[in-house]
Amino acid sequence: MTATFPENWSTALVLVAHPDDPEYGMAAAVARWTSQGKRVVYALATSGEAGIEGMPPEECGPLREGEQIASAAVVGVDEVEFWGFPDSEIFNTPELRAKITETVDRVRPDVVLSLYGGPEWAPGFPNQRDHMQFADSVVEAFDALETPPRALFCNGPNVTHAADVEGFTDAAIRALECHRVYLEVLDPQTPVLDQATAQIERGTGPIDGFDAARASGFELLRGTA
Ligand SMILES: [Zn+2]
Repeated sequence: MTATFPENWSTALVLVAHPDDPEYGMAAAVARWTSQGKRVVYALATSGEAGIEGMPPEECGPLREGEQIASAAVVGVDEVEFWGFPDSEIFNTPELRAKITETVDRVRPDVVLSLYGGPEWAPGFPNQRDHMQFADSVVEAFDALETPPRALFCNGPNVTHAADVEGFTDAAIRALECHRVYLEVLDPQTPVLDQATAQIERGTGPIDGFDAARASGFELLRGTA
């Protein structure tokens, strides 16, 4: 049985490693929550400056920050921060954990959403090292908080809670589409809108034991929902 993601909260903090991480898997749910008047804040460890093949980091970082800010705005998020840790070099260090702690203490969220930290999404679909290291550092920092938020979730395959996102996938597609230059270089053969539509449709299918045609799944890692 998959529980309904709680909605009796006011502020969520989304902690991720790179630009576009919120768009793969969370943006449709974020669109739902901001439509209810909730506050959602995005914090990104890096600016994704190593993410576009052939583009120098000093050009790529600002471009991807701009794409992320535009993307967040589509789903009702106007607070986006970049911490400046090096892309592709994310490790679970004291510096990263301190930044996570400082951010949680400053934003004072009710719920924290993070990346999936397991080694594989499914057999043959490995996770990225940056994501795993980042996810580990969030859990470790969360466990050390003096006054932790109510719950920590990750956006992974072991779903415990789901949000009904019927009616919010168009916004999620438009949000992912904002990562236009990134997606154009990633797959030059496929129009960006087609890439975004396919990704969001794949990521918001029905979830076992949850009654919704379109759903976004999360795993409760700490606290109570
Ligand atoms: Zn990423």
